[in-house]
Amino acid sequence: MQSIAIFCGSSIGNDPLYRQIAEETGRYLAEQNIRLVYGGGKVGIMGALADAVLLHGGEVTGVIPTVLLEREIAHDNLTDLIVVDTMHERKETMMELADAFVALPGGPGTLEELFEVFTWNQIGLLQKPCGLLNVNGYFDLIEQLFTHMIEKKFMSADALQILSKEASISELITRLSDYVAPPLKQYKDNQSSTIMRGGNPS
Ligand code: AMP
Repeated sequence: MQSIAIFCGSSIGNDPLYRQIAEETGRYLAEQNIRLVYGGGKVGIMGALADAVLLHGGEVTGVIPTVLLEREIAHDNLTDLIVVDTMHERKETMMELADAFVALPGGPGTLEELFEVFTWNQIGLLQKPCGLLNVNGYFDLIEQLFTHMIEKKFMSADALQILSKEASISELITRLSDYVAPPLKQYKDNQSSTIMRGGNPS
């Protein structure tokens, strides 16, 4: 894996643990020579993550839309800062540049970005692994929501395989490196089934 996009909070959270995990993640990426692709800001744990990669000699590409240049305070010391016109262009650019995607704790913006990658994998528009760094059980509620969706038949159990979840960044990256995409979701008149990515219905 050469590059990884990380989505995470533009806030710092209420516990020093979140900054610490962002810093550990940054150091790990630098040590593994994995380039960080992220939103390009200085604020929150986004900023702490980018600073840690740079501090440990790693490379960081930030992708920031003009509308957020000032609000999220663009980082002025990155290896590359790509300024784009729209939020959509930012996500498209990050999807192109990264080999895999990870969410660290964050708010609605973090989930929005992660869920686009997850759902694009689900319908086959993207085939790149994604996962949650489950710091202190931060994302356990998402797993509960998925269980609920599967139980109510609004989500296929296969889709769970798309989104890895680990408590340590090294284990998460190992899982993402070994990722094999599950069967592609297919839609039929009033029921859904799966179809193999090669095209043959299961
Ligand atoms: P948050 O997790 O809410 O702190 O936001 C984290 C990041 O998500 C920030 O860099 C935001 O710019 C970004 N973000 C917020 N809303 C969106 C959106 N609708 N699409 C893409 N990125 C977003």
